[in-house]
Amino acid sequence: MKKSFQFRIYPNKNQEVVLNRTLSTCRHLYNDSLAERKRQAEMNELVRSFGVFSWGKPEWINYYDQANRLPKSKTAYQKEVHFHVLQNTLKRVERSFKNFFKGAGYPRFQGRNRYNSFTFPESGFKIKDEKLILSKIGSIKIILHREIEGQIKTCTIKKDIDQWYVTFSCEIDRPMNSVEIKTKTGIDVGLKSLLTMSNGSQIEPPEFLRASEDKLTQEQRRLSRKKLRSQNRNNQRIIVAKVHRTIRNQRKDFAHKTSRMLVDQYDYIVFEDLQIQNMMANHHLAKSISDAGWSQLINFTKSKAEYAGKVVELVNPKGTSQTCICGCSVPKDLSMRVHNCPHCGLKLGRDHMSAIVIESRSTVGTTGIYACQGTQRSINAAGSSSSFRGE
Ligand SMILES: [Zn+2]
Repeated sequence: MKKSFQFRIYPNKNQEVVLNRTLSTCRHLYNDSLAERKRQAEMNELVRSFGVFSWGKPEWINYYDQANRLPKSKTAYQKEVHFHVLQNTLKRVERSFKNFFKGAGYPRFQGRNRYNSFTFPESGFKIKDEKLILSKIGSIKIILHREIEGQIKTCTIKKDIDQWYVTFSCEIDRPMNSVEIKTKTGIDVGLKSLLTMSNGSQIEPPEFLRASEDKLTQEQRRLSRKKLRSQNRNNQRIIVAKVHRTIRNQRKDFAHKTSRMLVDQYDYIVFEDLQIQNMMANHHLAKSISDAGWSQLINFTKSKAEYAGKVVELVNPKGTSQTCICGCSVPKDLSMRVHNCPHCGLKLGRDHMSAIVIESRSTVGTTGIYACQGTQRSINAAGSSSSFRGE
């Protein structure tokens, strides 16, 4: 089982220069390797379109071609960087192409502000006496606010505007005891950052998260008014990036707390599979943005559940908001907040209904005894309440 641990590190001025230089070297290597592959791809395209070249079959450059060449072709800058870090950079190029072939966007050249991390994939790092010792960089002050569990596999250094972080990805080897499933819930993740459980209860994100999001809109508007390539614009860009960081941290914190609460409360948690959802030609922009936050919550819930011997299941999201638990289809557009089934007469909040449908789609939901009772109970509870808005 994999688990990550992130810590802040405090490089001194000189170390920061070296860290920045390492980032820059990796970024150039990344872009050069990408360019080489791109040229090759264009060449292949040419061969294919004319079909007259004698050398025939297209040749592709892969990770091994580039990695094997690296030791001999190292530049002066590259010699200053741990070899595995360079290799890992080439692996990233490989991965971005693999993702592309799986349907992600074409690999992009990385600008100075975009490329912000490098990884020691197996060796070249060590922790000793509150110091992180990095090969060819030095020993940097680190604050270990929590204990690292398991065996450290990789060490990634990340720059976040003016702060530096290290993430250790660890392999934890311990027996997993599955918990007996006694409590279960389906969860509908809503457009407006709202979670709805199949018992009808809801979790709202903290108010300050909304406030930061408003601030972001405001600062972004200011950025768009600054003159291109001016110093003012660059300063504003940093302000925007910092608001982004605040929101990212607040969201992450919310996701950690919420997932902790869910896993403490339930043994079996059912979400919609957002990846399938995105493939289902869902071009609703606001939805796809909120999904980005939800993926984090779902991933956190998954790993905490795994750690606790509990289960998270992702089910097909097709039509979860358009179906009644009686099996009938009840079409609703986004503005309709109430589910009102003309067949069985069930009347419920839209999100509440979706959560129940999501729970009913789980594999345990259809066969498990408890699960049926659970669903039944939530319907009864909801059915008897008459205080629902919109009635
Ligand atoms: Zn119905």
